[in-house]
Amino acid sequence: MPVHTPAVEDYLKAIYDVGRSEENVTTSALAERLDVSPASVTGMVKKLAGMKLVTHERYYGVTLTTAGRRIAIEVIRHHRLVETYLHEALGVPWDQVHAEAEKWEHVLSEDLEARMDAALGHPTNDPHGAPIPTVTLELVEPDWPPLARLDAGVIAVVAEVSDDDPDLLRYIGGLGLYPGTGFEVISAAPYNDGPVTVRLLDGEQSGAEHAVGHRAAAHLFVKDIA
Ligand SMILES: [Zn+2]
Repeated sequence: MPVHTPAVEDYLKAIYDVGRSEENVTTSALAERLDVSPASVTGMVKKLAGMKLVTHERYYGVTLTTAGRRIAIEVIRHHRLVETYLHEALGVPWDQVHAEAEKWEHVLSEDLEARMDAALGHPTNDPHGAPIPTVTLELVEPDWPPLARLDAGVIAVVAEVSDDDPDLLRYIGGLGLYPGTGFEVISAAPYNDGPVTVRLLDGEQSGAEHAVGHRAAAHLFVKDIA
């Protein structure tokens, strides 16, 4: 695979990300995601189209080509493997690994990638619960609902927590709601922005009850709902 600049890789990753939730990836959505001006997005998208990594059509927005998508997923594999390695092998707290991985993802060699993967026993999820793409770059993005959408009486397991806000991760970690933790919803206030109260069913804080703030509950995704 040819080497691309970190800027090219960050754009491809952003196009992939925005494309997961929006039908059309517009230049303004990319400008917002990357915190740059729409004019610089337009310039970069032209460049990426010239490299055959994206197509850009007026009514369909920006779309990754097969080659562009492979690069995006390779960078995501690096990112999530590095986060897992920093957390599990080096003990870096889960709220600090994302910022480090944002840099390492661009420089990791294929050899180091393979060694990290083997040293960790081929992990399938990063410390925030997100799936790690396979070595053949298969990535199945789960469609887990947020905690904010659950009703009282429901039992579920924490699947994934958004990884890019360290304050949010410290808050959720302080409540013991790490991925894999089972809990029961004690009360929920779905039609206002009130908290969701949960009782933990396992983990270090098993039995504890916590009111989870609405914003946090919107960024905490759940699975195995019963
Ligand atoms: Zn991350």
